[in-house]
Amino acid sequence: MSDAVARLAEVRAKITRACEDAGRSHEVTLVAVSKTFEAEAIRPVLEAGQRVFGENRVQEAQGKWPALRDAFPDFELHLIGPLQSNKAKEAVALFDVIETVDREKIAAELAKEMERQGRRPRLYVQVNTGLEDQKAGIDPRETVAFVNRCRETHGLAIEGLMAIPPADENPGPHFALLEKLARESGVQKLSMGMSGDYETAIQFGATSVRVGSAIFGSR
Ligand SMILES: *Cc1c(COP(=O)(O)O)cnc(C)c1O
Repeated sequence: MSDAVARLAEVRAKITRACEDAGRSHEVTLVAVSKTFEAEAIRPVLEAGQRVFGENRVQEAQGKWPALRDAFPDFELHLIGPLQSNKAKEAVALFDVIETVDREKIAAELAKEMERQGRRPRLYVQVNTGLEDQKAGIDPRETVAFVNRCRETHGLAIEGLMAIPPADENPGPHFALLEKLARESGVQKLSMGMSGDYETAIQFGATSVRVGSAIFGSR
């Protein structure tokens, strides 16, 4: 058994326990973040039954995932990294969920491409809960209005919110803020929690966690 498969089982067990501890019956989706890992490293994890994966670069994902479609037609691929508007076409064609909608221009490009391709990836809005300059995501204070504009101006169904808390802070308040913004925006899904804090995120209501290094090893 590959190390990644053993670690996958561990992460799954911890998610189950965190759900029980939080008194939650709702299932939490594990998004296995495979960025920087080659197809050969991903394949055993697919063979072990994992079907939901996250990648942060469109081009990197294009290089490895289409070939895996033949053997595993039912995987679900999430874009979790920043999206440039000139990559919207490729992103709509390849991804099942785009978690990083964070500005008007991207919303407009996605709407156009979805119409053109007749393919409708599910969409999340990324929120920069820590207002960090180097991080993508919309200002928390603009989130509700932005979600509404996505719906009303661009006809996009926004399914959830996503955030990456500042690395050097207690993530709890950031998770709580994202949960509050989701309620205020009327969206159901919360993508929050990574290798270091996914159990905490589950306490705060995460519906999906994005776990990379705890499964695939350090990058
Ligand atoms: C890399 C990445 C992750 C996974 O991080 P780990 O700490 O390796 O679990 C989660 N979310 C985003 C947006 C990432 O870029």
